[in-house]
Amino acid sequence: MSVRVFSILLCTITVHTLLGSIVVKAQDNAFPESKSSTTLALVGGRVIDGFGGKPLENTVVLISENSIAAVGKISEIGIPKTAKIIDTNGMTVLPGLWDSHGHLFHIGEGTPTDFPNRYKDRSIELMAIVAEINLMAGITSFRDTGGPLKPQLTLREEIKTGKRIGPRLFLAGPILRQGDRNKSINNDDYLIANTKEAKKMVTEVANQGADQIKVYGFWDLDILSEVTSTAHSLNLGVDADVRHIEAYRTAIRAGVDRLHHVFTADSLSDYSEDDLRLLVRGEKPSGSGPSANILRGPYIIPTIEMRASYARAFRFPEIIDHPNFKRAYPPDIYKYFRDSLNNINSIPWGIGAEERVKVAKNKLKRFVAKGGREQLVAGCDSGSPLNFHSPLAREIQHLSEAGLTPMEAIQSATLRAAQMQGVSDKLGSISVGKIADIIVVDGDPLTDISLLRTNVAHVIKDGVIIR
Ligand SMILES: [Zn+2]
Repeated sequence: MSVRVFSILLCTITVHTLLGSIVVKAQDNAFPESKSSTTLALVGGRVIDGFGGKPLENTVVLISENSIAAVGKISEIGIPKTAKIIDTNGMTVLPGLWDSHGHLFHIGEGTPTDFPNRYKDRSIELMAIVAEINLMAGITSFRDTGGPLKPQLTLREEIKTGKRIGPRLFLAGPILRQGDRNKSINNDDYLIANTKEAKKMVTEVANQGADQIKVYGFWDLDILSEVTSTAHSLNLGVDADVRHIEAYRTAIRAGVDRLHHVFTADSLSDYSEDDLRLLVRGEKPSGSGPSANILRGPYIIPTIEMRASYARAFRFPEIIDHPNFKRAYPPDIYKYFRDSLNNINSIPWGIGAEERVKVAKNKLKRFVAKGGREQLVAGCDSGSPLNFHSPLAREIQHLSEAGLTPMEAIQSATLRAAQMQGVSDKLGSISVGKIADIIVVDGDPLTDISLLRTNVAHVIKDGVIIR
């Protein structure tokens, strides 16, 4: 398959440390066993290792098989004669990026309900295109937060065996909602009516091979608590997309690990001080002792870009005719995509987008000022209407505009994302023994974070140069 360099890329980064919430282990399926036999040496550039400290200048990063074998100053590291050398002078070497909220089976079309149904039979072909676009943008790990699990597992296997190229995939599979299945018109819905069903459904989704449990909508505390405790007992984290402050309160009390679309998808009204405190500190802040200031709230993935992408497209509708779309997708899919965007102003989620972005950023700033910076993780709802793969670097930029330092913003899409997934022992940093998922950015993203969108010079995944 040809390597498509696709960059209508609308991306971003952020975040930081291990929180008090439960650390979960994703399944090891996301870790391919393929190993490159060449030793690689990235020589000369600056390294941002993901841990948030001062960057290291004039470095060598040695990659052997699929792991990082050494990181240090040129003067300290011997480069094997047989190594393949990549000159990184004038560039920044950093961990591969994570999109912690995306959709492989959406391409930014204006009709997100129709698209996956209509093209069900071509899901692997289409998701493979999206996966490749993301990897070429420097996204080496992708958390899909709701999509068809079976074909996604097949795609992951194909990436693993080298048949396709794409990021490391962490998959949610079917989305769970509270409701009565007997009253549902759609048999595919994963509806849960009581605690017994909660246990059964979560176990079923876990058995299908999901890496995380995704819940949506309003829940009763006891039922959602059963969802989280079952998921945790199976070593899985719970991702909640609940879109209302009332539902956030329940989700936090039920012990969910990650809250999505906070600030962005709920109402325009501001949060109270109490609610902000709950978001930052969770349900049981410790009141005294040395841990009094330890954060206990869930990880937060604001997905500001979910709204900002509309605002930008309304200001510049020309974007939908960009030739990259025609290049990326098969002709019939391109036609469908383009037709679905004929009347972009009618897409419901876009209504009032400009104002909503402003309100969301203000709420986010308050959250950061209250102490929530270490909870923020970059995810962009990539694939949702007008949110063309990949908007991640723009999300990283939103987080930095809301008060994270550029370094923290980078962490939100590297180490912190890996910590959130429970895989920071393998991913998310440039340190000895970690899997070599690395990008090289031409220039200094700490001065100009938008370089993460425009200047990705190299992408290395599993020790293999992809770009
Ligand atoms: Zn989403």
